Amino acid sequence: MALIVQKYGGTSVANPDRIRNVAKRVAKDFDRGNDMVVILSAMAGVTDSLLRLAGEMAETPDRREVDVLLATGEQTTASLLAITLKSMGYPAVSLLGFQAEVVTDCNYSNARIVDIGSNRITSLIEKRNIVVIAGFQGCDAEGNITTLGRGGSDTSAVAIAAAIKADKCEIFTDVDGVYTADPNVCRKARKIDKISCEEMLEMASLGAKVLHLRSVEFALKHNVLVYVRSSFNEEEGTMLVNGSHDMERPVVSGITYSKNEARITLKKVPDQPGIAAKIFTPVSDANINVDMIIQNTRAGGQTDLTFTVPKTEFKRALEIERKVAEEIKAEAVWGDEHIAKVSVTGIGMKSHSGVATKMFSALAAENINIIMISTSEIRISCIVEEKNAELAVRALHTAFGLDKE
Ligand code: ASP
Ligand code: MG
Repeated sequence: MALIVQKYGGTSVANPDRIRNVAKRVAKDFDRGNDMVVILSAMAGVTDSLLRLAGEMAETPDRREVDVLLATGEQTTASLLAITLKSMGYPAVSLLGFQAEVVTDCNYSNARIVDIGSNRITSLIEKRNIVVIAGFQGCDAEGNITTLGRGGSDTSAVAIAAAIKADKCEIFTDVDGVYTADPNVCRKARKIDKISCEEMLEMASLGAKVLHLRSVEFALKHNVLVYVRSSFNEEEGTMLVNGSHDMERPVVSGITYSKNEARITLKKVPDQPGIAAKIFTPVSDANINVDMIIQNTRAGGQTDLTFTVPKTEFKRALEIERKVAEEIKAEAVWGDEHIAKVSVTGIGMKSHSGVATKMFSALAAENINIIMISTSEIRISCIVEEKNAELAVRALHTAFGLDKE
């Protein structure tokens, strides 16, 4: 008997039949004697259509009210699952984020969980209730409803699992687990049985869409045992392990890509102290995340500086830099939205050399030009032209011996 948190994503609760399936699955684990807490996403597509509705009422809808609206998606599925379980004779109780005491900061649409009070959940479990909680939502200290950012119900689940000290947290989704690459792009991708939180953290931030980034941060920080599994079969899925696991592992565990990048280049920037601060302070003041930066040294006291930002922030960042360029007397500002970031990730890299060379050679063999490079202890990323992203993923997957037979 264990305390199990299960999270079901949008496709797993997309219609009444699928909600019934979820109910059966939860009931089965409950019947085995486990205590069950279930976190739900909205039905697939609902969050998008709510956002569209808000967009019809105002060009830039008020952020507080948008969160009130978006929270209804998860409210719907939580109540529907509880209704279903009760009709099957199970003692179920649904809770919204604030009722489950999910306290966040007040950053609407991208709030961070600051605390979860476990009392109400725990006392309901002690009375042998199945507790169904609306994911993706919380409330701030003033009681305003907040949401955690797209895909945030994974984070709700892992954070709640940490708060109530669950034995495990199972994230049910529409794929069998975490793959060595996106199976839609690379048909030879394989499911990974075990992956370290560290690697998963990199992969989630580099474009692997299977888990919300902050859910992995919670898993790592609070030592939550997380499994990613399919809600459509009984397969084991992928297990996230903390620390370096003892199994034999390849140097590279996965290849990811993201088309959510854009680059901005400032040409002929005066090469003087304080210039980088002038270039990047206004960007960070505007809450825009800069990812990669490269600076070339040139003759004549001038240099070119290139950096990447999320594609969604491209226009804003470009406008900001046009002003900066005038101020610092840079020659020109260029922007390019048609780029992609392709990355190889693996804990094994820490103790192996030659990974970068292998990556560059594999890209060269496909005639793919590398625009920018960045590295960390367990990752190498290259910016390439957007049209080459998929080809690059496949080439690297093969080069690092990840293809399934
Ligand atoms: N429903 C929210 C979204 O679509 C949260 C989630 O599914 O995790 O982003
Ligand atoms: Mg998701």
